[in-house]
Amino acid sequence: MTQKILVLPGDGIGPEITAQASRILAACQARGLDVEVDEGLVGGSAYDVHGEPLPAETLEKAKAARAILLGAVGGPQWDKLEDLAKRPEKGLLGLRKNLGLFGNLRPAITYPQLADASSLKPELVAGLDIMIVRELTGGIYFGQPRGIEVRNGERVGFNTYVYSESEIERIGRVAFEMAQKRGKKLCSVDKANVLEVTILWREVMERLAPEYPDVELSHMYVDNAAMQLVRAPKQFDVMVTGNMFGDILSDAAAMLTGSIGMLPSASLNESGQGMYEPCHGSAPDIAGKGIANPLATILSVAMMLRYSLDEPALAQRIEDAVGKVLDDGLRTADIASKGTRTVSTAEMGDAVLAAFEAL
Ligand code: NAD
Repeated sequence: MTQKILVLPGDGIGPEITAQASRILAACQARGLDVEVDEGLVGGSAYDVHGEPLPAETLEKAKAARAILLGAVGGPQWDKLEDLAKRPEKGLLGLRKNLGLFGNLRPAITYPQLADASSLKPELVAGLDIMIVRELTGGIYFGQPRGIEVRNGERVGFNTYVYSESEIERIGRVAFEMAQKRGKKLCSVDKANVLEVTILWREVMERLAPEYPDVELSHMYVDNAAMQLVRAPKQFDVMVTGNMFGDILSDAAAMLTGSIGMLPSASLNESGQGMYEPCHGSAPDIAGKGIANPLATILSVAMMLRYSLDEPALAQRIEDAVGKVLDDGLRTADIASKGTRTVSTAEMGDAVLAAFEAL
């Protein structure tokens, strides 16, 4: 059955990088991938046309799509919008909420060719391949009650850190299944020495473990996990954690790779419908210059093929094509180093496409 893909270029460098990723998607179609690709507006560019960062038409298309490829949203021209509901990032949050995208997959991969780009010693990060599974729709970012109010004559700010067993179980299952497909090691990150909600988190992970006997489950407090990520990151295979800890740890892990322009991400719901996007933002400082790195977006297409479209061979082919281009010494400016050849966004797209076809 033909599946629908929605491409949402967004703002800033979004249109430049999704254009290159769309070419790879078209090459997959030429090799038999049975998808129908449509485009839509989101973020600031949607606000400019429709007065909304997530127009009804885009939401309808998103709901009907098996997978969404998103560039990035945001830019200084929309930062002064007083109505926070109209800000570009609300477009993203609206998509996550409406599609129930609770499972965020954030790989941190250091390509051996780019190990020098990390702030850590190359031997600590060369070949690094971690998958952080972050719960995305619950936890302290959404818990009620929340607010700022006056108590005993002073202002008090408060939030609620809450997870139900079923919320923990469904993200736990995503992580266990991910570990089964990878190195079979799962580290659950919590703060069970202090927070009851994560005592429950740990209990649920333990309860699930016997169902995945091939996966080795371990637990780590979040403060130790932060230390271990910068001390010896290669000890990790899959990590699973709640929304806030995952937010922080996945950004730290991303930086271990030294190149934000290389990192894809996925957000999935229970039916495997997913939104795929680079980890970086809309980079307004370089938008329109034709120098943005399209590889994170191209690698997001690979994740889409693997996790929503069940096409692992095509996914691997894209990843191998990216590896080949790096082997050949081609780099966009953000990852350039001595002895490499700096290319534009479109030239990088050309090279990946050529490598994809030649493999
Ligand atoms: P950013 O990731 O956009 O940029 C940080 C730095 O990295 C900049 O110097 C930028 O030029 C560079 N960079 C990022 N992606 C690159 C790429 N593909 N190739 C080459 N260089 C790249 O983060 P920021 O500057 O904090 O945010 C800029 C805008 O993006 C803001 O409006 C922010 O709200 C938005 N943002 C959006 C998302 C998203 O859409 N998911 C995520 C983060 C930030």
